[in-house]
Amino acid sequence: MGDLADHERNIVLTGFMGTGKTTAGRLLAERLGMEFVDTDELIEERHGPITEVFAVRGEAAFREMEHALAEELADRRGVVISTGGRMMLDARNVVALSRTGRVFCLVATPEEIFDRVSSDTTRPERPLLSVPNPQSQIIELLSEREPGYRRFPQLTTSEISPERVAEGLVDLVTSDPQRFPVTSPGGVYHYSVGAGILPFHRQLALIEGPSVVVTNEITAEQYLPSCGDVDLAIVLPSGRGQKTLGAVQAVYEQLLDAQLDRSATVVSLGDSIVGDVAAFAAATYLRGVDLVHCPTDLIAMIDTSVGGKVGLDVPQGNNLIGLFKQPSAVIADVATLQTLSPREFAAGMGEVLKHGLISGPDALDRIETGSWRDESHRLPGALGDLQALVARAVQIKIAVVQEDPFDEDRRQILNLGHTFAHAFELVDDGDLMHGEAVGVGLVAAARLSARLGYCEPGLPERVEELVRHIGLRTSLPRPFDPGAVMTAMAHDKKRRSSRLRFVLLREIGDPFVAAVDDLEVIDDILRSVQP
Ligand SMILES: [Zn+2]
Repeated sequence: MGDLADHERNIVLTGFMGTGKTTAGRLLAERLGMEFVDTDELIEERHGPITEVFAVRGEAAFREMEHALAEELADRRGVVISTGGRMMLDARNVVALSRTGRVFCLVATPEEIFDRVSSDTTRPERPLLSVPNPQSQIIELLSEREPGYRRFPQLTTSEISPERVAEGLVDLVTSDPQRFPVTSPGGVYHYSVGAGILPFHRQLALIEGPSVVVTNEITAEQYLPSCGDVDLAIVLPSGRGQKTLGAVQAVYEQLLDAQLDRSATVVSLGDSIVGDVAAFAAATYLRGVDLVHCPTDLIAMIDTSVGGKVGLDVPQGNNLIGLFKQPSAVIADVATLQTLSPREFAAGMGEVLKHGLISGPDALDRIETGSWRDESHRLPGALGDLQALVARAVQIKIAVVQEDPFDEDRRQILNLGHTFAHAFELVDDGDLMHGEAVGVGLVAAARLSARLGYCEPGLPERVEELVRHIGLRTSLPRPFDPGAVMTAMAHDKKRRSSRLRFVLLREIGDPFVAAVDDLEVIDDILRSVQP
């Protein structure tokens, strides 16, 4: 596969000043028996003090020195490279250094950065902080650079000794991506999940023939610069309302303009909207080209990238136009989840929880005990725990879709909470995120199961506790008309004949599909999730 063995790979550390890159980098190099290089130190050795370089030759000259160094270091092997604070914000340096190295970003709170920088007497120059109020300067610079830093897997160094940071890095560097085979009607493909396995050009290099990346504006800004040479990048507008035939048409036009033939591979890089548009185009362009999914949000990672179901929205309803298109590979990098807002992350956890409730107590344990989220939402959680969470949740989905590749029967259990959720989304007019609707839908499904006597009366409370634990609401944010929800449910596509069908629970890990005729009971359940 033309990839570098781990001991030959460089490890590149980036991050704001005072996050401990140099100290942790030295320790890491020692532990792994690698060489250590600090780019600022190397530039000073060659060109004199950085303050002087800035004063005499200007910042642009300094950035060119950094870039030349990036190219030079990329040709070496087995080096831990601690980079200057802005070096990896330059896309050219990302492309160069990630050719032979994995990049990690160290992060800390502004308070801790200030403490470290002001007590560091070895680098008195720190020109950026020679201002009257260095603390607010740190906060300002951090928020300015955050989008750049966030494209790399992050490791928290606040309140952690450099030794522990180095250990965490050793874990990250030596932890292997997990690979799961998925048997589909089109053959077997692999789902890989890891932390920091993008940048992505190393994966793209495995693709034979021309590669076309389909992404959206936000994701393009974060990850496209580190994709290296792709034959074509198609950037869709970000956000809802984009899963349309119009978007697919725009993709066709760019594929045709670039005169791509059937040897092309479409790579979807982004959320589930990007995934569906890319997959629909890949399934139909010249009667079908290969597809690779690189999901970057939680729902795409554990749900929509697996199973081959592709749906587009039309004015008459969501997902009404669709087909099956199996990918030839799925590459999930949990480091990309660190760029999600707390709200987006919690919404994705709604689907993770759904998978846990379908599967059983063991999967719920990961949700309850993993440190996949920092309580303060200021710093990222542990990437190892995040990887374990995604791996477990996607294995559940893989098991179900393998049993029922064409969505005829068993796959219905994946709709736990969804008869309610889809109706909530319809009457809510768009502000409610899908995963948020699923959270309330899971509560409603548990209450309905208990009300009809299928499960222990304590089950709904347990589900509510879990929904709250992942940061979601157990009731809807705004009052709604239960009659309108009932009408919306009656139009749900999972309805067969004239009866309403729900996925219910006998207990955690034991879902089943039931038709429910007693509309009064459903009305009661709906009233119970009013705010
Ligand atoms: Zn869903």
